[in-house]
Amino acid sequence: MTKMIVVTGGVMSGIGKGHVAASIARILKWHGLKVAMIKIDPYLNTDAGTMSPFEHGENFVCEEVWEFEPVPGWKFRIAETDQDLGTYERFTGDFVHPSFNITSGQVYLSVILKERHGEYLGKTVQMIPHVTDEIKRRITDVAKRMKCDVLIIEVGGTVGDIEGMIFLEALRQLRLEIGPENFMLVHVTYLPYLPTTGELKTKPTQHSVQRLLQAGLVPDVIICRAERDLDEKTRKKIALYSNVSPDAVISNPNVDFVYEIPLLFMKQKLNELILKRLQFKNPKIDQKSIKMWTDLINKYKNAKDVIKIALVGKYVAHKDAYISIREALLHAGVHLSVKVKTELVDAENLNEEELLSFDGILLTPGFGKRATEGMIRAAEIALEKKIPFLGICFGCQLGTVAFARKIMGWKRANTTEVDPNTPYPVIDLLPEQKKIKEKGGTMRLGALDIVVVEGTKLWQAYKRKIIRERFRHRYHIIEKYVKDMEKKGYIVNSYTRDRKIAGFEISWHPFFVGVQFHPEFKSRLWQPSPIYLAFLEAALKFRKSKIS
Ligand code: GLN
Repeated sequence: MTKMIVVTGGVMSGIGKGHVAASIARILKWHGLKVAMIKIDPYLNTDAGTMSPFEHGENFVCEEVWEFEPVPGWKFRIAETDQDLGTYERFTGDFVHPSFNITSGQVYLSVILKERHGEYLGKTVQMIPHVTDEIKRRITDVAKRMKCDVLIIEVGGTVGDIEGMIFLEALRQLRLEIGPENFMLVHVTYLPYLPTTGELKTKPTQHSVQRLLQAGLVPDVIICRAERDLDEKTRKKIALYSNVSPDAVISNPNVDFVYEIPLLFMKQKLNELILKRLQFKNPKIDQKSIKMWTDLINKYKNAKDVIKIALVGKYVAHKDAYISIREALLHAGVHLSVKVKTELVDAENLNEEELLSFDGILLTPGFGKRATEGMIRAAEIALEKKIPFLGICFGCQLGTVAFARKIMGWKRANTTEVDPNTPYPVIDLLPEQKKIKEKGGTMRLGALDIVVVEGTKLWQAYKRKIIRERFRHRYHIIEKYVKDMEKKGYIVNSYTRDRKIAGFEISWHPFFVGVQFHPEFKSRLWQPSPIYLAFLEAALKFRKSKIS
């Protein structure tokens, strides 16, 4: 039987509920338990793919594409999920399936299509029981498929939001169905710090717990996010108002490095509390893995050398828009014992002078015309000044455009996504994309095999002929132009199995690599992405050459 841990949020969103849920999963895995994770997103989009990175941060692309078929004959491809699923993968090392991200859009779409299909024939279709049943079905389906000991379910948004209420109601019912002894609730709340009195204020937390109780849910653990550590007086006060014991009130102050959170929770014995509450007898503990994790954190903390990487892009207004890329850089940095300082550089107002102060330039993924001239210019500067360069997806495409303009002299070269009338369309739609009109879930998505060309920098990084990485795009490098570009040092470094170009590099440049895929999605703290690692090595070398 699968036990369930529900993670809810109080006071406000964006306080790191995803990291709490992922840290709990990490801890339970250290205890030898099989864990799966669900993220509930109460918005009406079917998946995160159609949302702007400005509003919602990054789209996390899963390894697999899910064929969501609410009723026979209605199929939707889903691979783009909420960024929290990326946190889950990075903390647990397990691939998440797109069906682990349940949105209101999917739930309502299913219920309405089922009604048309005749599944509720004769009935009045209602929020309770039909919508709640659909939510419960989706949750228990994951538990059954994954055969896990524990299923962690993070509810997006904040308790009390109208759109989230129906999910809380479904969870209340689920608690009764599986028995309260198999169900626990972890409430993550925020405690504002008031400098005038030097206190962490508990009132908003009290109100959010009341909101939970109104929904028929009782918290077992309160995780207190705050700028600072929780003092004993505040801990006791929260315990009293929330009806939990003081040791179930867990302090979660800001940390330098998010991977410290599982250890922070272990120190406060959250693991023991959960195991006892869910009645796991004689739990094991994998001290070796905990030590490995602790060593990596120490390695991060003790790193003295700092390298500066520019993330040049168009979504710089939202800190989370490039979260997987930033994490991949951090992971690679830990391996090399250097601190990576990533700075978001706005390509719309590119400061060329400032760009020269960086040790490496990463050209980011993206869509649409805005800011592309600045992005292309940044790639031209990297070419000219021999600054290590890594282009990811759109960044790879625009890196190719920069080469075409600057080295080939093809003045108005471009991608047809930006300029449909360019005389040199070095980047154009994938052939299968030309007939596609619908926007949701219709890109080339998910992981594909990639054949790496021997002897290239990409090959040196991966040291493997066949790799598997994730894609999310419609446009690609056009083979026709490559022959001429090759004469000036442009090298195709990889292909997908259907012979589409998957990346390039420049022979005469110390490190100028573009990849059409997104290696950042598979980077882990304990296993950094090979090409990010190679990029940082080049950046480190470049920095040293500047100093000497
Ligand atoms: N807009 C480009 C395309 O669709 C790149 C996409 C991306 O960077 N993920 O091909």
